[in-house]
Amino acid sequence: MWTKIQQHIQQLTGREFVMCDGLGPACGHRTPVSGGSINQAYHITDGNQHYFVKLNQASKEAMFEAEVTGLQEMHNSRSIRVPKPLCWGTDSEYSYIIMEWIPLGHGKTQTWFVMGQQLAQMHRQSHPQGFGWHRNNTIGDTPQLNSWMESWGQFFAEQRIGYQVQLAQRRGGYFRHTAALIENIPTLLAGHHPVPSLVHGDLWSGNAAFSQMGEPILLDPAIYYGDREVDIAMTTLFGAFPLTFYQGYQETWPLAEGYQQRQVLYNLYHILNHFNLFGGGYASQAQDMIDQVLARV
Ligand code: ADP
Repeated sequence: MWTKIQQHIQQLTGREFVMCDGLGPACGHRTPVSGGSINQAYHITDGNQHYFVKLNQASKEAMFEAEVTGLQEMHNSRSIRVPKPLCWGTDSEYSYIIMEWIPLGHGKTQTWFVMGQQLAQMHRQSHPQGFGWHRNNTIGDTPQLNSWMESWGQFFAEQRIGYQVQLAQRRGGYFRHTAALIENIPTLLAGHHPVPSLVHGDLWSGNAAFSQMGEPILLDPAIYYGDREVDIAMTTLFGAFPLTFYQGYQETWPLAEGYQQRQVLYNLYHILNHFNLFGGGYASQAQDMIDQVLARV
C-alpha cells in the first residue's frame, strides 16, 4: 500500500517521494494522526514534502473519490481554505485519499469571526440545478443521496430524513410518527425559500480547524447544494462554536427569520445518522427531536 501511495504521489507531482520509516536522519516517515471517526489517518513526509493520507477498506474507494471531488468544489469557491486534494486510489486491501498536509493550530476570537465570514461567502456559491449535487457522497460512512430537486422541502424530506429513517428501520430501529414527520416536512418548510448554497454538510467542531497562522480551514466535507442553515444548525449540535463565529457569519449574510425553528429538524438528520452509525442513546435523542418537530405541525 505505502509503495503504491509513494508511486502515486511521484506520478502526479513529477518529484521523487520516498519514505523510509525513520531509518536515518534524512529519511521521511509516517505518523498516525488521531481525531478522525471513520478512517485511519497519517501524516507522511519524505523530509521535504508533506501529505495527509486516510486509509479505509478497499470497498470505500468511492467515498474517497467523492471527498476529493467535494474538497475540489470547495477549493474552487475561493471562499475558505480546505486541504488541496491530490488523489485517491485503491489496492486489493485498502483504499486511500491523499491531500495537502496543513499543520494545525488553534482558533482565536478574531479567527473564529473570519471563519464565520468565509463560511457565509462559501454559502454564496449557488447552483442552477437546484438542491443536490452531481453525485452521491457519504456522511460519516453512511451514503448521502444528492439527486437534484427543485423543492428544498421535498429534497430534505426524501433524501435526508426519509432515507435515514429507512436505514434505521433496516437495522431494527423503530421511531414513532416518522410517516407523519416525512409527510409534513414540505409543509414545515413551505414558507421558507432558501437559495441552493454550497454547504459543507458535516460541520461539527472536529471539522473546523485553523492553520498555525490562524487561517480558518474546513475538513472532511459531505458537500451538496442545500439550505445554508444546515451548516449553522450543525455547528450547535455537539457544543456550539464560539460567539464570534456567528457574529462573523451574520455580519456577512444574516440568517433568514425562523431559523431557530428549523434547527431541530435539520439536526435530526445528523442524529438519525449517528443512530445508524453508532446506535445506543441516539435513539431516544432522535425520538425527542421528532416529537419536538411534530409539535409545531
Ligand atoms: P475522518 O474522515 O476519519 O473523520 P478527518 O478527515 O476528520 O478524518 O481527519 C482526522 C483529523 O486529522 C482531523 O480532526 C484533523 O485534526 C486532522 N487532519 C485532517 N485533515 C488534515 C490535513 N489536511 N492536514 C493536517 N491535519 C489534518
